[in-house]
Formats: sequence, C-alpha cells, structure tokens
Amino acid sequence: MKFIETRGNDGQHATHVNFSEAILSPISSFGGIYSPESLPDLGHDFLQKHIDADYKTLARNLLAVFEIDIDADVIEKALSLYDEFDDSNNPVPVNKVYDDLYVSELYHGPTRAFKDMALQPFGVILSALAQKRSENYLILAATSGDTGPAALETFKNRDNVQVACMYPVGGTSDVQRLQMVTEDAANLKVIGIHGDFDDAQSALKRLLGSATFKQKLQEKNIHLSAANSVNFGRIIFQIIYHIHSYLELVRQKALNLGDRVYLNVPSGNFGNALGGYYALKMGLPVEKILIASNNNNILTQLIKNGVYDLRDKSVIATTSPAMDILKSSNIERILFDLFGEARTKELMLQLDKENHYKLTRDELDKLQNIFVADFCNDDEGKKYIKDVFAKGYLMDPHTATCFKAYDTCRDKPLKTIVYSTAEWTKFSPVIASSITGEMDTHDISALKSIARQANIEIPAVISDLFEKEISQKTVIDKEHIEAEILSFI
Ligand SMILES: *Cc1c(COP(=O)(O)O)cnc(C)c1O
Repeated sequence: MKFIETRGNDGQHATHVNFSEAILSPISSFGGIYSPESLPDLGHDFLQKHIDADYKTLARNLLAVFEIDIDADVIEKALSLYDEFDDSNNPVPVNKVYDDLYVSELYHGPTRAFKDMALQPFGVILSALAQKRSENYLILAATSGDTGPAALETFKNRDNVQVACMYPVGGTSDVQRLQMVTEDAANLKVIGIHGDFDDAQSALKRLLGSATFKQKLQEKNIHLSAANSVNFGRIIFQIIYHIHSYLELVRQKALNLGDRVYLNVPSGNFGNALGGYYALKMGLPVEKILIASNNNNILTQLIKNGVYDLRDKSVIATTSPAMDILKSSNIERILFDLFGEARTKELMLQLDKENHYKLTRDELDKLQNIFVADFCNDDEGKKYIKDVFAKGYLMDPHTATCFKAYDTCRDKPLKTIVYSTAEWTKFSPVIASSITGEMDTHDISALKSIARQANIEIPAVISDLFEKEISQKTVIDKEHIEAEILSFI
C-alpha cells in the first residue's frame, strides 16, 4: 500500500511513500497529509471469516490487507499491548444500553481514554522504525489532557525516542495532570505552561518552525516528530475497532451479518470518525456515521450546511474538553477521498488564508450520503449523563454528546454503535455534579462520590495516582520552553 498527498504533489516531495515514511515524516506537499492511494475492499468474506476472531487476530489480518512495510514481529509486539487492557481476551467490550443502542468502550487501556487504542501500538512501531534506521526522535506533544498521558505511557523507556509534553497548568483535570507528572522515565519530560491549551499549542508550533531549535537538534542528530492525530500510524489502528464492534453485535445476536448500523462518534480532530469512514468504504455495512460535537459545533455546520467558517469563532471551553477543537485536521482526508486532490488543495488553502470555505450543493450531497451531525451543549450533556445513569449505565461527558445525535440524527430504526472515548474516572467532577447536582471541583472527592453512587470501585491505576511521587515538577512561562527542552535532550 502506498500513500499519496491530499493537496497534490509539488515536484519536491515523493509522489508515493510507504507506510513507514508516511508516519516518520507526515507533512507533504503544500502542507497536505498522506492518505492511502486506494482502500482495500474487504468484502463479505472477510467479515464472515472473522465472526469468531479475537481482537488481535482481526487486527493482524486487517493490517495484512493494507500491506504495510512493518516487520511481522514488530506488528506482533505492537498488538500484544492490547493484552494489557482490562480484559486480555477483549480490549473493546460492547455493551447494550437500549434495545437499539450499544456502547463500544474504547477506554480500557492504561490511561483510561481512547487515545490508547492507537497510541499504544503506534509507540512500538515508531520506536522500532527509529532503531532499524539508527535514528533518534524527539516527539513533541501539546495536550489538553488525554493525548499527553497516552503519548508518555506508550513511549516511556522505549529506545531511540524522547518525549517532551506540554500541558496548560490548571487546564487539565487532576487525574490527567497526575497521569503526566508522576511519569518518571528518563526519556520523558513533562512541562507545565502558564497559560491555556492554545498557548501550549502555539508554543509547540513556534518550536516546530524555529531555525535555531532545528539546528540544535541536528547537532545532536535528533529528528523531530509529532505524534498528533493526523499521523496515519495512528489512524490505521482506529479502523479495527469499528469492524470489531460490528462483529461483536453479530456475536451478541443483535445483528445478522450484512445488516446496516449507525456509527455514532464523539468527534474533535476526526480521527475516530475517519476510521469509521474507512471501515465503511472497505465494506462494513454502515447506514450513516453520526458525528457528535459539543458547543464547538464547526463539524455540525459543515455537515448540515456545507460551510466551514472559522471567522468570528474562538474555542469555547466545555465539559468535553477533548472535543474543544475548531480546526479538525482529519476532515482533510475526507475531502480528499470524496473530491480529489485539486479541490482539497483549493479548499484547505482558502481555509488557511480566509478562514472559511463552502462546498457546492453536489459536494454537500456526497458528504451527507455518509455523515449526519448534531451538537450537544453542556447542560444537555449533563442531563444525558444523569438520565442514562438512572437507567444503569455510567458514561463520561464526551460519550454523552452521542446521545443527542442518537435522538436527532437517525431516520431508520437501526442498531446504533456509540463510541465511548473516556472512562468516568477522567472527568469525574462534571459526572458527579450531573448525577448528584452538587458541584465539587476536586477529582478525588468526585471519584469517591461516583463510586459510592454507582456501587463500583475506583480502578487502582487511578486511585494510585494520588499516592505516587510527583517526579515532573517543571512549570515555566512559554518563553522558556525552547531552552528547557534543549537542556532535557
Ligand atoms: C481525543 C478525544 C476525542 C476526539 O477524538 P477525535 O479522533 O479527535 O475526533 C473524544 N473524546 C475523548 C475523550 C478524546 O480523548
């Protein structure tokens, strides 16, 4: 499988690259990103053959269809990390909540959010590639809370890779901060920044563009990389669980093979939904993909009206912070797949320059053939958490946004798979206040309150965090980031 560029080729970059090149240097001509040249067709046979397959077998055989240039033993090692999830036989349990609504839980990995689904195996692959090439990589990450812990966890103590992770002080939950500052491996550096997530993010972008920084890295023979969510090395692992979830419904006798379903995805950067789109294109029987957003409803506007308009908009802080995003990077791969490279380049350059674009009627029809969208504000989300909890299911605020889309976006009585992207432990204050009506901003008391109400235990990986030693104590102003990272490497 080769990868080509979403904005066409500029005559300087290679026109076609292998998987390994696409993940090591993900930026292509005109600022585009790499996408598969064509998608394999799985056909009915593949699904039929895997009805009783365990997760790793399905994953192994799906990766084989993509013919990626990664050695089999490395793939095996990457997939073995799913054995460390809560249930080693099934890393992604799918639970019935209503007769036609099933929740696929993507958060049973080490950091209790869905970023582990892709970052866990990705860490093994990137480190193996670096070793094979005798190269060293510095991974920079700016996080609002879920990517940071997942990136640190996957790269800790891995050879030929160092990670510098920036987070906004006061801008994450207690649990998220503790997951980062208690990591003590020598190849990890966690930096608290005075400011908000945008400050951390723009500091990272400045660094990526800094000539002196690059020069210093070159002197030390270190390559710069970002483990961000446009990296195809992450996306490929996000196709698998959509197919797995469908097959789980067949196994549970909720579906006959071939029946159509709705996929219902809480979306920010659109990596999760893109995985569902690729699964659909490869033959998974999907009626529509429901895109759920919070008050940052740029994706809802695009899918409803064909307009992507950032003018007069700034990011709104919500109770589902991992979806507080206006520039949703993976949409570019959808545009490319539906409308081709010339049109994608035109639209994306217009977005960069003028902060908006508009699809034609014909283009919008094509988009709406596949996607339907709605957004859920914080009060609605809290009500869904409360109501669904009363019916016996505990969920986090990101997952809750899907219940609004479930109520408003379906026009057929088909089974619906909602993707749950975080465990309740990661966003406990808002969940506790949804359920009890009492405001408590401290994670530890909210965790205890929910555990009591729901009659469940706080998982040890979370409760232990409050006892662990803080080993990452750096907190600085954003002007000092470059010096701090240089002294770390
Ligand atoms: C990252 C994240 C999302 C958004 O996923 P995308 O793939 O960026 O659309 C949703 N929920 C949680 C909890 C996340 O961590």
